[in-house]
Amino acid sequence: MSLDKSNFVCRRLVGRVAIVTGGAHGIGKAYARRLADEGAHVVIADIDGAAAETTAAALTALAGAPKALGLRVDVSSEESLADMVAKTMEAFGRIDILINNAAIFATIPMSRLPFDEIRVDEWDRMMNVNLKGSWLAVRAVAPVMKQQKSGKIINIASGTAFKGTGGRIHYVTSKAGMIGLTKSLANDLGPHNVNVNCLAPGSTLSEENATDEILQMRQKKGSTRPLSRTQLPEDLVGAMAFFCSSDSDFITGQTLVVDGGTYMH
Ligand code: NAD
Repeated sequence: MSLDKSNFVCRRLVGRVAIVTGGAHGIGKAYARRLADEGAHVVIADIDGAAAETTAAALTALAGAPKALGLRVDVSSEESLADMVAKTMEAFGRIDILINNAAIFATIPMSRLPFDEIRVDEWDRMMNVNLKGSWLAVRAVAPVMKQQKSGKIINIASGTAFKGTGGRIHYVTSKAGMIGLTKSLANDLGPHNVNVNCLAPGSTLSEENATDEILQMRQKKGSTRPLSRTQLPEDLVGAMAFFCSSDSDFITGQTLVVDGGTYMH
């Protein structure tokens, strides 16, 4: 008997419409798959438009899954996000879930350099995509969620925000900002019955074609955890689905660290 996890997924999100920014690769793709397994229509909003369309077509082809949509979206552009909302409304008529997952990280790589060697233009681009892009995406979907009087927003931070990992100050700062963004938005959107929560993944083997060097780096991080193994994208999808479901209706402004116990509050 197959033990494919999707066989055991409750279909808690039937009829819901979920947007996953950066959903064409890596962990975002795993979030999209889980949302489809839960019964949601998924919009893959990624700067890699071709991969977004391929991912959406693969989700739509899953047995019993509702239709998915792939869009080329740049989260740092208000115009692009307005287009994302318009096309989602045209296709599905509502927006229930936003996963703010797009980032400069692996697919579009960041430089890993000491704080005084990172270029100012790379700092600006990092903030524009990872942090400002998340704020802009919330601004774009909020009018729809307010009108519906319901919504679930999940921001993606990182365990590095708690550890303060060196050699990538622009990335770590952008991810630390996601935690403040979450708390502030939870206050602003709570009166509209919109929950805003945050997930902080640990070091995750998300690379589609991981080199030996990357594999070893991820394995080394895994070996120091209480739950001592390499973290995979599938390790994150249960927590994401919990924040999207009615099981978390009275939880907002929280950050959940999913990293096998590397960081403990
Ligand atoms: P990834 O780089 O593969 O995924 C990011 C996605 O965002 C890609 O699909 C990329 O095309 C997309 N993207 C980049 N710029 C964009 C833009 N301007 N507009 C729209 N889409 C854009 O990385 P991943 O490992 O899958 O990470 C997913 C999320 O999890 C990121 O927010 C990352 O910071 C976070 N995270 C990852 C790890 C890890 O170890 N993999 C750890 C902690 C947090």
